[in-house]
Amino acid sequence: FELWQETVQLKALPWQRCEIEAAIELRSNIVGIVLRKAEELAQINQELIRSNNELDAFAYVASHDLKEPLRGIHNYSSFLIEDYGSILNEDGISKLQTLMQLAQRMENLINSLLHYSRLGRVELILNETDLNELLNTIIETIKISFKEQQIDISIPQPLPSIKCDRIQIGELFTNLITNAIKYNNKPIKSIEIGWQQEETFSHQSYWKFYIKDNGIGIREKHQEVIFRIFKRLHPANRYGGGTGAGLTIAQKIVERHHGKIWVESTYGQGSTFYFTIPQ
Ligand code: ADP
Repeated sequence: FELWQETVQLKALPWQRCEIEAAIELRSNIVGIVLRKAEELAQINQELIRSNNELDAFAYVASHDLKEPLRGIHNYSSFLIEDYGSILNEDGISKLQTLMQLAQRMENLINSLLHYSRLGRVELILNETDLNELLNTIIETIKISFKEQQIDISIPQPLPSIKCDRIQIGELFTNLITNAIKYNNKPIKSIEIGWQQEETFSHQSYWKFYIKDNGIGIREKHQEVIFRIFKRLHPANRYGGGTGAGLTIAQKIVERHHGKIWVESTYGQGSTFYFTIPQ
């Protein structure tokens, strides 16, 4: 039993010819399988890139071409009200007005889709951007559009300068801050914007930003679906209305910068949206 338990290092019975052949065969099989898998993956990736591009192009063309007939529907409804309003009863006028509202809503949806598909197609223009400066301008503009609301935005430590597409990152912050104000029923809308530096296992450093609000919060089961295009959790006329594309656009911008976006939230208390940008 002692012999069986013995640990022997750097010594072995000589390899037999058939064992060596089997080991060589095994190695060449493994290399063959790995290479084949890598080739398959490369091909799938190529196809994915192509179908993504086609999808973006399709969304772009479809939304662009849909706008014209829709404008026609809107205009003709308004002509009908103008020219025949006097001979229509109240019910008829109200139906035409609904038709115009629906056409307007559809136009808003199409514009969002157009904007979204454009984001996937334009080249990123990467420049060193001082986020303090960018955020100052954004916050000023947002405060003007929500001037009836009491808004308290704090930035506990100065933000860094990062290499990014200034316009797109500006839009990302605008979307997230606007949501933090819109989906909020507290008398004072408190928003905190901050960041920290993080490193992954593969030694890639990230800027990790957060936008924290004291708003209505999001139930756990909805925390992923809100990033889907046109997904809203409320009727179109509640919480300031919107097309449900804001977060999909935010996600697209972060992904184009090779980062990630996610939310942590307690229903009824508030939400924190996080996103990362590689350094
Ligand atoms: P929209 O452009 O219509 O505002 P978004 O894509 O930005 O749509 O958001 C989708 C949904 O996610 C909203 O309908 C809302 O229910 C929810 N949501 C987004 N941001 C917040 C937030 N800060 N707090 C609570 N709910 C939010």
